[in-house]
Amino acid sequence: MSVKSKLTLAISLLVMLFLTLDVILNDYSTRVNLRSEAEASMTRLAKQVAETIDQNGRLRAAYEQEMTARLHLSARAAASLLPENLKEIDRAAIRAAANAVKTDSLSILAASEEGLEVIGSSNEQLIGSLENEAADKLQVPVRTLAVQEAEGEVQQESAFVVMWPAGSGEEDGARQEIRAYLAKAGRDYVVSVGINNDDTLELLEKSEPRQLIDDLLAGQRDLMEIAVLDPGSFTEAGAMEVNAGTDAFMGTAAIQYGRFTPGNKLIDQADVAAAAAGKMVFRSAVMDGKSILKGYIGFEEPYPLVVSLVMDEAFLFENLNQQRMNRILISGALLVLVVMASYIISGWLIRPVHSILSKVNDVADGQFDTVLEVRSSDEMGQLAQQVNAMSKNLAVYTNKLQSAFEENRTMKEYLQSFINHTSDAIHVEQTDGTIVQVNQAFEMMFGWTAEEAIGARLQLVPEQYSREEQQALDEIAAGKLLPARETVRQRKDGNWMNVSVTTSPIRDNKGIIRAYASITRDMTSRYKMDELLRRSEKLNTVGQLAAGVAHEIRNPLTTLRGFLQLQQQTQKLNVGHVDLMLSELDRINLIVSEFLILAKPQASKFELKDVRYVLGDVVSLLDSQAHLCNVVFNTDFTQEECEIACEENQLKQVFINVLKNAIEAMPRGGEVNIVVEKRKRDTIAVSITDQGVGIPEEMIPKLGDPFVTGKETGTGLGIMVSQRIIQSHQGTMDITSKVDVGTTVVITLPAVTE
Ligand code: ADP
Ligand code: MG
Repeated sequence: MSVKSKLTLAISLLVMLFLTLDVILNDYSTRVNLRSEAEASMTRLAKQVAETIDQNGRLRAAYEQEMTARLHLSARAAASLLPENLKEIDRAAIRAAANAVKTDSLSILAASEEGLEVIGSSNEQLIGSLENEAADKLQVPVRTLAVQEAEGEVQQESAFVVMWPAGSGEEDGARQEIRAYLAKAGRDYVVSVGINNDDTLELLEKSEPRQLIDDLLAGQRDLMEIAVLDPGSFTEAGAMEVNAGTDAFMGTAAIQYGRFTPGNKLIDQADVAAAAAGKMVFRSAVMDGKSILKGYIGFEEPYPLVVSLVMDEAFLFENLNQQRMNRILISGALLVLVVMASYIISGWLIRPVHSILSKVNDVADGQFDTVLEVRSSDEMGQLAQQVNAMSKNLAVYTNKLQSAFEENRTMKEYLQSFINHTSDAIHVEQTDGTIVQVNQAFEMMFGWTAEEAIGARLQLVPEQYSREEQQALDEIAAGKLLPARETVRQRKDGNWMNVSVTTSPIRDNKGIIRAYASITRDMTSRYKMDELLRRSEKLNTVGQLAAGVAHEIRNPLTTLRGFLQLQQQTQKLNVGHVDLMLSELDRINLIVSEFLILAKPQASKFELKDVRYVLGDVVSLLDSQAHLCNVVFNTDFTQEECEIACEENQLKQVFINVLKNAIEAMPRGGEVNIVVEKRKRDTIAVSITDQGVGIPEEMIPKLGDPFVTGKETGTGLGIMVSQRIIQSHQGTMDITSKVDVGTTVVITLPAVTE
């Protein structure tokens, strides 16, 4: 879901919540209002009913008073017009009296077997009817009337009673008369006069609460029941037992007017009692499955009474439902409007986010050149600014990265071409010996093609050298930096070659060695070159020595010649001279043979020799030349055996080179101390110290490089050749020197012990 939709949804939900709350609150308050309105209307109605009862009571009382007076007068008048004894009364007398008093009817009643009976009347229809009720009220015993009749005297004073027509509101027939009965003292009959006053009665009836209640019920739909209750009799349990139905209640003392449907007996009783005590009671209840509102309102006037009303809540809240419906409809419409408006507003709000998003997408695609317009200074504006800055930075870094990558690539290509075009064989092998990478030179040098080599474990190290190789690898694994090793490697065809190998470890990011990279340089040609150099140096030395040698040889030759001349002249062989001559010849022989050793290339062959003798030979060889230069050789050789495995000629050349340098360093002569000593660890050290010009400090590290010379006729090969030779003898050669003090060359060689 997009942010826009989410925003819209959130706003809409909020508004919906408010609208719903509004509907609910409104509903509630309207309900409360309606109820209090209903209660007010109920109170009003009850008051109306109570007032009507009051008024009707007064009216009726006034009317009754007037009618009673009128009837009393008429009855008295009629009585005075009629004869004293019943026997004397005839029809004519009754009619005459009736005409005189002008009542609607005039009747004479006398005691009969069944009670008080109409004997004669102006209204013939009444004759024969019994009026026992009136008799009761008159409190004139019918028997008394009978006795009177017999005895002809009446003991009672006159009695007067008015009978109101009963059954008001009854439909059947015409209204009855209001009748008055007069039992006069001394008379054996009762006079009755009747007045028919329907209109007035009707009027009275109309003003009765019964009528009002009917009218109200008819006029107000929501009004279901109105009743006037007598609280006194109502609260009597007995009244409430009448639960059979409304009609059963009617006419009882508890319900004076109207209808009352009992609900819960106890509640009803309590409510009526409370209302009678002056408290208005309103209560929601259910009647016949309908929600109703019941009200009880008590009044003191005209007499203590309680008006009960029942209203139908359905009608009461009819409007409410309508109103609620309307409100919901309006809210719904409002909600739709809000959804639309919020959608538009969120779109408007989100727009900057969209442009930022598209910018970020551009950046993600690698386009950094577009710039976001910053229109506002709010958070969106700040965001846009930051995005711009970020994109700018990204562009810079990406460019840097690109150039670094390019550099890397070139470097890689460069390295690749370097690896592939170098004449040194390069191969990488895993720790288990499996080859993972080789270069062209490797293929050429070892004879294996890359396809054959990669993934295979080749026998590159000859069997005899495997221990030495393992040692080297162990040292590398231990973290030691090994210099180039001069050793031997085996080609595919099984031939060996002299090589110089540099091996370096390749570690993973945890520092564990995963592979070894080896650079192998074919030293065959280098060795050939060395040989050539050695030879040229030798020739040079030979040339230089030649003068010395010639000089050296000339002396004994001169001696020999002298002796031979002497013997030629004396023709005698002097034995002493012969010995001398022989020793001279031996010396010549020695010199020449030494010379030959140097001059003639010899098959290299290691032999056991004593250094002292080899050095001694060289010293003798150079002695004569030293003499020429005023140089004296002082030798101090150890008494111990100094046997080493060596190639005599080569070793001699080393000593010659060093001694010659010593001689040459002392143009005005001096001493050369030559010491041979045996050191610990079976090393033999040869130190040759001169008192010459010394070597400038900056030159010392360069010694050993070819053609590094400080002399006009020098070759700069002597030290280099010497170092090679000593190296091949597993020895070392150290030169220390101080300008104008002298130079010491120390050569150490491994001694051979039993
Ligand atoms: P060359 O003797 O032909 O010059 P070398 O290799 O024998 O070549 O010696 C190189 C240089 O080292 C010499 O030219 C010289 O300057 C210096 N050198 C060697 N030995 C000595 C020494 N004993 N005293 C002073 N300088 C020496
Ligand atoms: Mg030299």
